[in-house]
Amino acid sequence: MKKISVIVPCYNEHETIEIFYNEIIKYFDDKYDYKIIFVNDGSKDNSLDIMRELGNKDSRVLYVGFSRNFGKEAAMYAGLEAAQRIHSDAALFMDVDLQDPPELLPEMLGYYEEGYNLIMTKQKDRKGQGLFGKMCSLGFYKVYAFVTKDKGMAKGSRDFCLMDKKVINAFLQIKDNERFTKGIFHYVGFKTKMIEFEYKERVAGTTKWNFRKLLKYAFLGMREFSRFYEYIPKIFAWIFALITLFDIGYGIGYAIYNDVNFFTEAMNWTNLRIDFGLTLLFIGIFYVIRLLYDVRSHAQKRPIYIEEESNIVLDDED
Ligand code: UDP
Ligand code: MG
Repeated sequence: MKKISVIVPCYNEHETIEIFYNEIIKYFDDKYDYKIIFVNDGSKDNSLDIMRELGNKDSRVLYVGFSRNFGKEAAMYAGLEAAQRIHSDAALFMDVDLQDPPELLPEMLGYYEEGYNLIMTKQKDRKGQGLFGKMCSLGFYKVYAFVTKDKGMAKGSRDFCLMDKKVINAFLQIKDNERFTKGIFHYVGFKTKMIEFEYKERVAGTTKWNFRKLLKYAFLGMREFSRFYEYIPKIFAWIFALITLFDIGYGIGYAIYNDVNFFTEAMNWTNLRIDFGLTLLFIGIFYVIRLLYDVRSHAQKRPIYIEEESNIVLDDED
């Protein structure tokens, strides 16, 4: 029987863990061997005690506890590592607040059986979200898609997804310390299905995010999956290069039109020097930033490629 692990990151979630547990087990049929892997991300409440209790009464419940709060991204990684350790055939990421509807589980498993490697979800427009919030998130997704060329990460896309073994192994190969999971999925590739669902309110408790954290996260995504900061000096270098050309063109035009000497009377050499100097400066900054990106990509140790399949048998495998 195939083993399916549901990975649930939890931070100060004493109000929701049991509600989640009682809800998710309704969808556990006898077609699969289901496990729930709670990851306690350094909660300050008694979340860990609740996990421990559930684990004692139900052997399907496993948990991993962190020494402090490392963030949801680290919790997802740890959960997936645990899923791999217990030889899961597939794994899901789910929030504990039931904003990721368990009713989608059968549909996701259906696509998994059809041969999709990764089944992702996005929620439809969030009712009640203010205009400012809407504009910020839409703006982020547009800029993100532009700088990373990742058109798949649409507005509303969630971490709620089902991965098969191939995706689990690939995901765990990405060892970035500052993780941006949505970008990692695009990076690893594989045959992907996107499912859409209606926005759901949190079942209990409060969100663990605030505007500052979200903004930081948005910039992290662009920083880690694009050469975002290269664009800025590049744009300025182009602007000043065009102004420099305009300075020269203007001088030539002025000389011809007024029939004066180009070198001594028509050209504004000071402007030309400043604009050309700024062009060179921004080209310089662009190359420095590019160099830093190269240094970073070596330091990150991301795999050069991710293999999906091969018929090469290694000599030491027989
Ligand atoms: N979470 C976590 N560590 C954190 C923050 C959040 O493990 O530092 C978990 C949280 O317990 C929940 C999920 O991540 O299961 C999503 O968090 P939340 O519901 O607060 O985010 P929102 O749905 O508001 O984006
Ligand atoms: Mg939530």
